[in-house]
Amino acid sequence: MRSTAANICPLCGGNKTPGTTTFTVDLKETLVVVGNVPATLCSLCGNEWLADEVAASLESIVEDAKSRNHLVEVTQFRKVA
Ligand SMILES: [Zn+2]
Repeated sequence: MRSTAANICPLCGGNKTPGTTTFTVDLKETLVVVGNVPATLCSLCGNEWLADEVAASLESIVEDAKSRNHLVEVTQFRKVA
């Protein structure tokens, strides 16, 4: 196993490991909860990092949820091109 700075948490020095997380955003009118979001997680402090393409897809999912005007929108992560 190679140990590069990219795999080390800048906050606590713990190991970053790939996994999934739940993304929640409160838009006041709508609470959006997105499950199974691929992320890099720190095994020590639990900090999360999202890849750019994942963040972009999340943005689209949130926009989509907003347009439906539900009080709470619970969905699974999906890639949006
Ligand atoms: Zn950490």
